[in-house]
Amino acid sequence: MGLIKGLKCRECGREYEIEPIYVCEFCFGPLEVIYNYDEIKKVLTRAAIKSRTRNLWRYRELLPVESDHGIAGDTGCTPLVKADNLARAIGLRELYIKDDTVAHPTLSFKDRVVAVALAKAKEFGFDTVSCASTGNLAHSVSAQGARAGFKRYIFIPASLEHSKIIASLVYEPNLIAVDGNYDEVNRLCSEVANKYNWAFVNINIRPFYAEGSKTHGYEIIEQLGWRAPDNVIVPCASGSLLTKIWKSFKEMKEIGLIDSLDTKVFAAQATGCSPIVAAIKKGIDVIKPVKPDTIAKSLAIGNPADGFYATRVIQETGGFGADVSDPEIIDAIKLLAKTEGVFAETAGGVTLASTIKLIKDGYIDKDSLTVICITGNGLKTQEALAGQTSEPHYIKPNLTSFEEILKKIKDHS
Ligand SMILES: *Cc1c(COP(=O)(O)O)cnc(C)c1O
Ligand SMILES: [Zn+2]
Repeated sequence: MGLIKGLKCRECGREYEIEPIYVCEFCFGPLEVIYNYDEIKKVLTRAAIKSRTRNLWRYRELLPVESDHGIAGDTGCTPLVKADNLARAIGLRELYIKDDTVAHPTLSFKDRVVAVALAKAKEFGFDTVSCASTGNLAHSVSAQGARAGFKRYIFIPASLEHSKIIASLVYEPNLIAVDGNYDEVNRLCSEVANKYNWAFVNINIRPFYAEGSKTHGYEIIEQLGWRAPDNVIVPCASGSLLTKIWKSFKEMKEIGLIDSLDTKVFAAQATGCSPIVAAIKKGIDVIKPVKPDTIAKSLAIGNPADGFYATRVIQETGGFGADVSDPEIIDAIKLLAKTEGVFAETAGGVTLASTIKLIKDGYIDKDSLTVICITGNGLKTQEALAGQTSEPHYIKPNLTSFEEILKKIKDHS
Protein backbone atom coordinates (compact mmCIF):
# COMPACT_ATOMS: atom_id res chain seq x y z
CA MET A 1 0.00 0.00 0.00
CA GLY A 2 1.31 3.44 0.91
CA LEU A 3 4.93 4.08 0.00
CA ILE A 4 5.68 6.02 3.16
CA LYS A 5 9.06 7.32 4.27
CA GLY A 6 8.04 8.36 7.76
CA LEU A 7 6.87 11.40 9.68
CA LYS A 8 8.44 14.82 9.43
CA CYS A 9 8.07 17.95 11.57
CA ARG A 10 6.53 20.76 9.53
CA GLU A 11 8.56 23.31 11.45
CA CYS A 12 12.10 22.01 12.05
CA GLY A 13 12.12 19.17 9.52
CA ARG A 14 13.18 16.48 12.00
CA GLU A 15 12.09 13.02 10.87
CA TYR A 16 10.40 10.26 12.89
CA GLU A 17 9.48 6.60 12.42
CA ILE A 18 5.80 5.76 11.88
CA GLU A 19 4.20 5.78 15.35
CA PRO A 20 0.98 7.16 16.88
CA ILE A 21 2.57 10.56 17.55
CA TYR A 22 1.62 13.98 16.27
CA VAL A 23 3.96 16.67 17.62
CA CYS A 24 7.71 17.14 17.33
CA GLU A 25 9.56 16.40 20.57
CA PHE A 26 11.97 19.25 19.91
CA CYS A 27 9.90 22.18 18.70
CA PHE A 28 6.28 21.02 19.23
CA GLY A 29 5.59 21.50 15.51
CA PRO A 30 2.94 19.25 13.93
CA LEU A 31 4.12 16.06 12.20
CA GLU A 32 3.23 15.19 8.64
CA VAL A 33 3.51 11.94 6.66
CA ILE A 34 6.15 11.95 3.93
CA TYR A 35 6.30 9.62 0.93
CA ASN A 36 8.75 8.16 -1.52
CA TYR A 37 7.51 9.89 -4.67
CA ASP A 38 10.21 8.39 -6.92
CA GLU A 39 8.86 4.90 -6.19
CA ILE A 40 5.21 6.00 -6.32
CA LYS A 41 5.77 7.51 -9.78
CA LYS A 42 6.75 4.07 -11.10
CA VAL A 43 3.55 2.30 -10.02
CA LEU A 44 0.79 4.88 -9.66
CA THR A 45 -0.01 5.61 -13.29
CA ARG A 46 -3.30 6.92 -14.70
CA ALA A 47 -3.98 3.45 -16.11
CA ALA A 48 -3.32 1.75 -12.76
CA ILE A 49 -5.74 4.07 -11.01
CA LYS A 50 -8.43 3.64 -13.70
CA SER A 51 -8.22 -0.15 -13.40
CA ARG A 52 -8.95 -0.17 -9.66
CA THR A 53 -12.15 -0.45 -7.61
CA ARG A 54 -14.04 2.81 -7.30
CA ASN A 55 -13.27 3.78 -3.72
CA LEU A 56 -10.68 5.94 -1.99
CA TRP A 57 -8.10 3.14 -1.82
CA ARG A 58 -7.48 3.51 -5.56
CA TYR A 59 -4.84 6.10 -4.55
CA ARG A 60 -3.40 3.71 -1.97
CA GLU A 61 0.29 4.41 -2.64
CA LEU A 62 -0.35 7.98 -1.46
CA LEU A 63 -2.11 6.96 1.76
CA PRO A 64 -0.25 6.15 5.01
CA VAL A 65 -1.51 2.60 5.61
CA GLU A 66 -0.20 -0.88 4.84
CA SER A 67 -3.63 -2.31 4.00
CA ASP A 68 -7.23 -1.13 3.93
CA HIS A 69 -8.01 -3.77 6.64
CA GLY A 70 -11.41 -4.24 5.05
CA ILE A 71 -12.43 -0.72 6.04
CA ALA A 72 -14.41 1.77 3.95
CA GLY A 73 -14.82 -0.13 0.71
CA ASP A 74 -17.82 2.16 0.19
CA THR A 75 -16.03 5.48 0.73
CA GLY A 76 -14.72 7.84 -1.92
CA CYS A 77 -15.33 8.36 -5.65
CA THR A 78 -18.15 10.83 -5.09
CA PRO A 79 -19.54 12.68 -8.13
CA LEU A 80 -17.99 15.72 -9.73
CA VAL A 81 -21.09 17.46 -11.04
CA LYS A 82 -20.85 19.89 -13.96
CA ALA A 83 -23.08 22.61 -12.57
CA ASP A 84 -24.28 24.57 -15.60
CA ASN A 85 -27.47 25.91 -14.02
CA LEU A 86 -25.64 27.17 -10.98
CA ALA A 87 -22.81 28.55 -13.13
CA ARG A 88 -25.33 30.62 -15.08
CA ALA A 89 -26.98 31.83 -11.86
CA ILE A 90 -23.73 33.07 -10.33
CA GLY A 91 -22.03 34.21 -13.52
CA LEU A 92 -19.31 31.62 -14.14
CA ARG A 93 -18.43 29.91 -17.40
CA GLU A 94 -17.33 26.52 -16.09
CA LEU A 95 -18.26 25.32 -12.61
CA TYR A 96 -18.12 21.91 -10.95
CA ILE A 97 -19.43 20.70 -7.61
CA LYS A 98 -17.30 18.08 -5.89
CA ASP A 99 -20.25 16.46 -4.21
CA ASP A 100 -19.37 14.72 -0.94
CA THR A 101 -23.02 14.90 0.18
CA VAL A 102 -23.60 11.47 -1.37
CA ALA A 103 -21.94 8.09 -1.91
CA HIS A 104 -20.31 8.00 1.52
CA PRO A 105 -21.58 5.84 4.41
CA THR A 106 -22.35 8.85 6.61
CA LEU A 107 -22.84 11.47 3.88
CA SER A 108 -19.94 13.82 4.56
CA PHE A 109 -16.30 14.09 3.54
CA LYS A 110 -15.31 12.99 7.08
CA ASP A 111 -15.73 9.37 5.94
CA ARG A 112 -12.50 9.85 3.97
CA VAL A 113 -10.38 10.84 6.96
CA VAL A 114 -12.02 8.28 9.21
CA ALA A 115 -11.32 5.47 6.71
CA VAL A 116 -7.61 6.17 6.87
CA ALA A 117 -7.62 6.78 10.63
CA LEU A 118 -9.36 3.50 11.43
CA ALA A 119 -7.13 1.47 9.10
CA LYS A 120 -4.12 3.03 10.83
CA ALA A 121 -5.60 2.44 14.31
CA LYS A 122 -5.86 -1.27 13.39
CA GLU A 123 -2.21 -1.31 12.34
CA PHE A 124 -1.14 0.32 15.58
CA GLY A 125 -3.15 -2.29 17.51
CA PHE A 126 -5.66 0.03 19.20
CA ASP A 127 -8.97 -1.49 20.32
CA THR A 128 -10.64 1.87 21.07
CA VAL A 129 -11.13 4.85 18.81
CA SER A 130 -12.12 8.33 19.90
CA CYS A 131 -12.54 11.84 18.54
CA ALA A 132 -13.43 15.44 19.30
CA SER A 133 -16.08 16.38 16.80
CA THR A 134 -18.14 19.26 15.40
CA GLY A 135 -20.72 16.67 14.31
CA ASN A 136 -19.80 14.87 11.11
CA LEU A 137 -16.73 13.23 12.59
CA ALA A 138 -18.84 11.88 15.47
CA HIS A 139 -21.27 10.40 12.96
CA SER A 140 -18.53 8.81 10.86
CA VAL A 141 -16.42 7.39 13.71
CA SER A 142 -19.59 6.02 15.34
CA ALA A 143 -20.65 4.24 12.15
CA GLN A 144 -17.40 3.10 10.60
CA GLY A 145 -15.94 2.25 14.01
CA ALA A 146 -18.95 0.01 14.73
CA ARG A 147 -18.43 -2.02 11.57
CA ALA A 148 -14.67 -2.24 12.11
CA GLY A 149 -15.23 -3.59 15.65
CA PHE A 150 -13.77 -0.75 17.73
CA LYS A 151 -14.89 0.48 21.12
CA ARG A 152 -15.82 4.12 20.57
CA TYR A 153 -15.67 7.21 22.78
CA ILE A 154 -17.06 10.19 20.92
CA PHE A 155 -16.81 13.73 22.36
CA ILE A 156 -19.08 16.51 21.06
CA PRO A 157 -20.26 19.96 22.16
CA ALA A 158 -23.67 19.35 23.79
CA SER A 159 -25.19 22.11 21.61
CA LEU A 160 -24.80 20.10 18.37
CA GLU A 161 -27.69 19.69 15.93
CA HIS A 162 -30.16 17.11 17.26
CA SER A 163 -30.13 15.24 13.96
CA LYS A 164 -26.36 14.71 14.18
CA ILE A 165 -26.63 13.45 17.76
CA ILE A 166 -29.28 10.88 16.78
CA ALA A 167 -27.30 9.93 13.68
CA SER A 168 -24.34 9.07 15.94
CA LEU A 169 -26.28 7.43 18.78
CA VAL A 170 -27.93 4.88 16.53
CA TYR A 171 -24.57 3.08 16.22
CA GLU A 172 -24.33 2.90 20.03
CA PRO A 173 -20.97 4.54 20.68
CA ASN A 174 -20.19 6.06 24.08
CA LEU A 175 -21.27 9.58 23.21
CA ILE A 176 -19.95 12.22 25.59
CA ALA A 177 -21.79 15.55 25.21
CA VAL A 178 -19.62 18.24 26.78
CA ASP A 179 -21.00 21.47 28.18
CA GLY A 180 -18.68 23.66 26.13
CA ASN A 181 -17.77 24.63 22.57
CA TYR A 182 -15.61 22.56 20.21
CA ASP A 183 -12.38 24.20 21.31
CA GLU A 184 -13.14 23.25 24.92
CA VAL A 185 -14.05 19.71 23.85
CA ASN A 186 -10.78 19.45 21.96
CA ARG A 187 -8.74 20.68 24.91
CA LEU A 188 -10.41 18.10 27.15
CA CYS A 189 -9.71 15.38 24.57
CA SER A 190 -6.00 16.24 24.50
CA GLU A 191 -5.94 15.55 28.24
CA VAL A 192 -7.90 12.31 27.83
CA ALA A 193 -5.58 11.25 25.00
CA ASN A 194 -2.55 11.69 27.26
CA LYS A 195 -4.07 9.44 29.90
CA TYR A 196 -5.84 6.67 27.95
CA ASN A 197 -4.32 4.50 25.27
CA TRP A 198 -6.96 5.23 22.64
CA ALA A 199 -6.67 6.20 19.00
CA PHE A 200 -8.00 9.76 18.95
CA VAL A 201 -8.46 10.06 15.21
CA ASN A 202 -7.96 13.84 15.14
CA ILE A 203 -5.41 14.08 17.96
CA ASN A 204 -2.74 11.39 18.40
CA ILE A 205 -3.20 9.86 14.96
CA ARG A 206 -4.00 13.17 13.27
CA PRO A 207 -1.02 13.04 10.85
CA PHE A 208 -2.47 9.84 9.32
CA TYR A 209 -6.13 10.81 9.60
CA ALA A 210 -5.58 14.12 7.81
CA GLU A 211 -4.05 12.39 4.77
CA GLY A 212 -7.48 10.92 3.98
CA SER A 213 -8.64 14.39 2.88
CA LYS A 214 -6.22 14.22 -0.04
CA THR A 215 -8.51 11.76 -1.80
CA HIS A 216 -11.09 14.55 -2.28
CA GLY A 217 -8.42 16.40 -4.28
CA TYR A 218 -7.15 13.39 -6.26
CA GLU A 219 -10.69 12.67 -7.36
CA ILE A 220 -11.20 16.26 -8.57
CA ILE A 221 -8.13 15.93 -10.77
CA GLU A 222 -9.01 12.47 -12.09
CA GLN A 223 -12.63 13.49 -12.77
CA LEU A 224 -11.55 16.66 -14.61
CA GLY A 225 -9.62 14.40 -16.98
CA TRP A 226 -6.22 14.75 -15.28
CA ARG A 227 -6.03 18.49 -14.90
CA ALA A 228 -6.23 20.82 -11.96
CA PRO A 229 -8.91 23.53 -11.75
CA ASP A 230 -8.06 27.24 -11.90
CA ASN A 231 -9.87 27.82 -8.59
CA VAL A 232 -10.97 25.62 -5.74
CA ILE A 233 -13.14 26.89 -2.89
CA VAL A 234 -12.85 24.95 0.36
CA PRO A 235 -14.87 25.25 3.58
CA CYS A 236 -12.59 25.56 6.60
CA ALA A 237 -12.97 24.37 10.17
CA SER A 238 -9.48 23.40 11.39
CA GLY A 239 -8.12 24.24 7.92
CA SER A 240 -6.90 20.68 7.39
CA LEU A 241 -9.03 19.84 4.32
CA LEU A 242 -7.78 22.97 2.56
CA THR A 243 -4.12 22.20 3.17
CA LYS A 244 -4.57 18.57 2.11
CA ILE A 245 -6.37 19.43 -1.12
CA TRP A 246 -3.39 21.57 -2.02
CA LYS A 247 -1.00 18.77 -1.00
CA SER A 248 -2.95 16.34 -3.21
CA PHE A 249 -2.68 18.65 -6.22
CA LYS A 250 1.06 19.09 -5.67
CA GLU A 251 1.52 15.33 -5.39
CA MET A 252 -0.33 14.74 -8.68
CA LYS A 253 2.14 17.13 -10.31
CA GLU A 254 5.12 15.61 -8.50
CA ILE A 255 4.36 12.09 -9.73
CA GLY A 256 3.54 13.30 -13.24
CA LEU A 257 -0.21 12.61 -13.35
CA ILE A 258 -0.86 16.24 -14.33
CA ASP A 259 1.40 18.40 -16.47
CA SER A 260 0.81 21.77 -14.91
CA LEU A 261 -0.55 23.21 -11.70
CA ASP A 262 -1.72 26.79 -11.37
CA THR A 263 -4.67 26.55 -8.98
CA LYS A 264 -5.76 29.32 -6.65
CA VAL A 265 -7.03 27.97 -3.33
CA PHE A 266 -9.80 29.90 -1.53
CA ALA A 267 -11.11 29.55 2.03
CA ALA A 268 -14.81 29.75 2.94
CA GLN A 269 -16.00 30.40 6.50
CA ALA A 270 -19.05 31.64 8.36
CA THR A 271 -18.69 35.21 9.64
CA GLY A 272 -19.61 33.89 13.10
CA CYS A 273 -16.43 31.79 13.06
CA SER A 274 -13.91 33.08 10.57
CA PRO A 275 -10.45 33.15 12.19
CA ILE A 276 -8.73 31.87 9.03
CA VAL A 277 -10.45 34.28 6.65
CA ALA A 278 -9.83 37.17 9.06
CA ALA A 279 -6.09 36.47 8.90
CA ILE A 280 -6.16 36.20 5.09
CA LYS A 281 -7.98 39.52 4.79
CA LYS A 282 -5.35 41.17 6.98
CA GLY A 283 -2.58 39.56 4.97
CA ILE A 284 -1.06 37.87 8.01
CA ASP A 285 -0.64 34.22 9.03
CA VAL A 286 -1.24 34.68 12.75
CA ILE A 287 -4.61 33.22 13.71
CA LYS A 288 -6.55 35.05 16.40
CA PRO A 289 -8.91 32.54 18.10
CA VAL A 290 -12.61 33.45 18.22
CA LYS A 291 -15.72 32.25 20.05
CA PRO A 292 -17.92 30.63 17.39
CA ASP A 293 -21.49 31.81 16.84
CA THR A 294 -22.96 30.44 13.60
CA ILE A 295 -25.46 27.95 12.23
CA ALA A 296 -22.55 26.30 10.40
CA LYS A 297 -21.71 24.12 13.40
CA SER A 298 -19.60 21.64 11.45
CA LEU A 299 -17.18 24.51 10.74
CA ALA A 300 -17.32 26.06 14.22
CA ILE A 301 -13.69 25.76 15.31
CA GLY A 302 -12.56 29.01 16.89
CA ASN A 303 -8.91 28.00 17.29
CA PRO A 304 -8.07 26.09 14.10
CA ALA A 305 -5.16 23.67 14.39
CA ASP A 306 -4.11 24.08 10.75
CA GLY A 307 -5.12 27.71 10.37
CA PHE A 308 -1.56 28.92 9.99
CA TYR A 309 -0.80 26.39 7.24
CA ALA A 310 -4.10 27.13 5.50
CA THR A 311 -3.28 30.84 5.28
CA ARG A 312 0.14 29.96 3.87
CA VAL A 313 -1.41 27.82 1.12
CA ILE A 314 -3.79 30.64 0.21
CA GLN A 315 -0.95 33.17 0.05
CA GLU A 316 1.29 30.78 -1.90
CA THR A 317 -1.39 30.05 -4.53
CA GLY A 318 -2.72 33.60 -4.91
CA GLY A 319 -6.14 32.69 -3.52
CA PHE A 320 -8.17 34.58 -0.94
CA GLY A 321 -11.01 34.01 1.53
CA ALA A 322 -14.58 35.09 2.15
CA ASP A 323 -16.91 34.88 5.13
CA VAL A 324 -20.70 34.87 5.04
CA SER A 325 -23.64 35.52 7.38
CA ASP A 326 -26.20 32.93 8.49
CA PRO A 327 -28.91 34.30 6.11
CA GLU A 328 -26.42 34.15 3.22
CA ILE A 329 -25.68 30.51 4.14
CA ILE A 330 -29.38 29.63 4.01
CA ASP A 331 -29.92 31.43 0.69
CA ALA A 332 -26.98 29.55 -0.80
CA ILE A 333 -28.26 26.16 0.43
CA LYS A 334 -31.54 26.91 -1.34
CA LEU A 335 -29.85 28.16 -4.52
CA LEU A 336 -27.74 24.99 -4.76
CA ALA A 337 -30.83 22.85 -4.24
CA LYS A 338 -33.00 24.58 -6.80
CA THR A 339 -30.33 24.92 -9.50
CA GLU A 340 -28.54 21.59 -9.20
CA GLY A 341 -30.75 19.36 -7.06
CA VAL A 342 -28.01 19.07 -4.43
CA PHE A 343 -29.06 19.44 -0.79
CA ALA A 344 -26.02 20.51 1.20
CA GLU A 345 -25.62 21.03 4.91
CA THR A 346 -24.71 24.44 6.30
CA ALA A 347 -21.03 24.01 5.35
CA GLY A 348 -22.10 23.74 1.70
CA GLY A 349 -24.05 26.97 2.07
CA VAL A 350 -20.90 28.59 3.43
CA THR A 351 -18.88 27.42 0.43
CA LEU A 352 -21.35 28.57 -2.21
CA ALA A 353 -22.16 31.90 -0.53
CA SER A 354 -18.42 32.60 -0.16
CA THR A 355 -17.88 31.75 -3.82
CA ILE A 356 -20.56 34.22 -4.85
CA LYS A 357 -18.80 36.93 -2.80
CA LEU A 358 -15.41 36.08 -4.27
CA ILE A 359 -16.84 36.39 -7.80
CA LYS A 360 -18.53 39.72 -6.99
CA ASP A 361 -15.34 41.10 -5.48
CA GLY A 362 -13.30 40.07 -8.51
CA TYR A 363 -11.15 37.38 -6.87
CA ILE A 364 -12.53 34.64 -9.12
CA ASP A 365 -12.30 35.20 -12.84
CA LYS A 366 -15.60 34.44 -14.60
CA ASP A 367 -13.89 32.63 -17.45
CA SER A 368 -11.86 30.26 -15.29
CA LEU A 369 -12.58 26.66 -14.33
CA THR A 370 -13.86 26.59 -10.75
CA VAL A 371 -14.55 23.70 -8.38
CA ILE A 372 -16.51 24.16 -5.15
CA CYS A 373 -16.16 21.55 -2.40
CA ILE A 374 -19.57 20.58 -1.03
CA THR A 375 -18.71 18.47 1.97
CA GLY A 376 -21.86 17.34 3.80
CA ASN A 377 -25.51 16.39 3.21
CA GLY A 378 -28.38 18.74 4.07
CA LEU A 379 -30.44 16.02 5.72
CA LYS A 380 -27.91 16.26 8.56
CA THR A 381 -28.67 19.91 9.40
CA GLN A 382 -32.36 20.27 8.65
CA GLU A 383 -32.88 22.38 11.79
CA ALA A 384 -31.01 25.20 10.09
CA LEU A 385 -33.81 25.45 7.53
CA ALA A 386 -36.73 25.33 9.98
CA GLY A 387 -39.08 28.18 9.06
CA GLN A 388 -36.80 29.11 6.13
CA THR A 389 -38.60 27.17 3.40
CA SER A 390 -42.07 27.61 1.93
CA GLU A 391 -44.96 25.61 3.41
CA PRO A 392 -46.65 22.61 1.75
CA HIS A 393 -50.07 23.23 0.15
CA TYR A 394 -52.55 21.59 2.54
CA ILE A 395 -55.68 20.12 0.89
CA LYS A 396 -58.58 17.70 1.49
CA PRO A 397 -58.35 14.29 -0.20
CA ASN A 398 -60.54 15.23 -3.19
CA LEU A 399 -60.07 16.65 -6.67
CA THR A 400 -62.02 19.84 -5.99
CA SER A 401 -59.72 20.72 -3.14
CA PHE A 402 -56.68 19.99 -5.30
CA GLU A 403 -57.96 22.11 -8.19
CA GLU A 404 -58.69 25.07 -5.91
CA ILE A 405 -55.08 24.97 -4.82
CA LEU A 406 -53.83 24.41 -8.35
CA LYS A 407 -55.59 27.58 -9.48
CA LYS A 408 -53.96 29.57 -6.65
CA ILE A 409 -50.54 28.17 -7.52
CA LYS A 410 -50.97 29.04 -11.20
CA ASP A 411 -52.27 32.53 -10.39
CA HIS A 412 -49.16 33.15 -8.34
CA SER A 413 -46.63 32.06 -10.92
C1 LIG B 1 -15.04 18.96 9.21
C2 LIG B 1 -15.72 19.56 8.05
C3 LIG B 1 -15.09 20.44 7.15
C4 LIG B 1 -13.70 21.00 7.26
O1 LIG B 1 -12.84 20.45 8.12
P1 LIG B 1 -11.34 20.86 8.40
O2 LIG B 1 -11.23 20.74 9.87
O3 LIG B 1 -11.10 22.26 7.92
O4 LIG B 1 -10.53 19.87 7.66
C5 LIG B 1 -15.80 20.87 6.05
N1 LIG B 1 -17.08 20.47 5.84
C6 LIG B 1 -17.71 19.66 6.67
C7 LIG B 1 -19.12 19.29 6.36
C8 LIG B 1 -17.06 19.15 7.79
O5 LIG B 1 -17.72 18.31 8.61
ZN1 LIG C 1 10.21 20.10 15.07
